[in-house]
Amino acid sequence: MPSRPVSAEREALWMAKLQGCYAEYAQRYFQGDIPTVPVRISWRLKRTLAYARHLRENGRPAEVVVSGKHIMLHGWGQVHATLKHEMIHIWQCAHGLKPGHGADFKALAGMVGVEPAASEYVAPLKMRRKRRNS
Ligand SMILES: [Zn+2]
Repeated sequence: MPSRPVSAEREALWMAKLQGCYAEYAQRYFQGDIPTVPVRISWRLKRTLAYARHLRENGRPAEVVVSGKHIMLHGWGQVHATLKHEMIHIWQCAHGLKPGHGADFKALAGMVGVEPAASEYVAPLKMRRKRRNS
């Protein structure tokens, strides 16, 4: 199991914060026309900021997984943008569309206020050891 660099309490707080943002964006940007799915944090993602998972059997949206390293390295401003990006994929799934970055994604990205060209893949998320001043 990969180690979690923050306390379980902090991780739980972050997940609650993400879930709160999800609920807020669902109303603000999707007028509630999006299913509520759990938002989870993963420490295993190496080059992926986040992803939206859907069920294989019926294509229904299942959850959003956000990289804990993304939160630690890039801060909440970028994490919020990433969450909105993944919510567009959840919306696509819920409306029988293939999750992707095509024309429907770009149109929604404009409404939600995220980069239409954004991708959730980046260079490997390397965590540096914190240097302590002696
Ligand atoms: Zn995407």
